[in-house]
Amino acid sequence: MRNIYIDGGTKRNLACIADEETGFVKLRKIRKTSRGSTAIFEFESLMTALTYIQKRVIDNGGVTIHTDSTEIVRFCRFCKSDNFTSRNKLKFRCFQKIRQVSERISLQVHWLPRNHNLAGKVLEYYRKRKPPSMEFVLDSFVCKYCNSRYISERDLKRHIYNRHVMLS
Ligand SMILES: [Zn+2]
Repeated sequence: MRNIYIDGGTKRNLACIADEETGFVKLRKIRKTSRGSTAIFEFESLMTALTYIQKRVIDNGGVTIHTDSTEIVRFCRFCKSDNFTSRNKLKFRCFQKIRQVSERISLQVHWLPRNHNLAGKVLEYYRKRKPPSMEFVLDSFVCKYCNSRYISERDLKRHIYNRHVMLS
């Protein structure tokens, strides 16, 4: 099972995806329409993840997209129904892409809390720092106890302290 995290950052108008297995990160600058809701960044990151899965993930063990947006989760469920309709172009493109990807692999979309979202952590980390480029591989700090991945030593240490240090 491959885990891809997605998030949209309104601060710098970015869509972000992070592939947990490889540490690959892709950022996309999104042009914001004047009256568009902030959900556009979430849908653009979903679109980015689906394109990435289609082109770069050769995996028949299935893929799970993780998002902290309940709207995305609800949308993806709605895509499975046969009476899907949307006048929103971006949503319709996402719908078509979901159908295409689902024909080839087992695709799941799961909700998770914001502070567990790897893509959200990446956006947070690069809110004030300049990202190395729009596509890069994360320096990974892997927990030796449970193999979860963190993007900074500070995050890893905090995780170890919270999860694995026995308090007496
Ligand atoms: Zn751990």
